[in-house]
Amino acid sequence: MKITDPVCKMTIEKEDATATSSHGGKTYHFCSSHCKEKFDKNPESYIDGDATGKK
Ligand SMILES: [Zn+2]
Repeated sequence: MKITDPVCKMTIEKEDATATSSHGGKTYHFCSSHCKEKFDKNPESYIDGDATGKK
């Protein structure tokens, strides 16, 4: 299953995600711990908008 890293917008396989973070009852997957750190500092800025590419 392909998912989009909300920080860098990279498409990755869910199984390949090296880091995850829960926010607002949803789980977000990241290509690297670096992206997770950026997300955790300011999750709202990455969730708002078209991070997932679909509503
Ligand atoms: Zn990333």
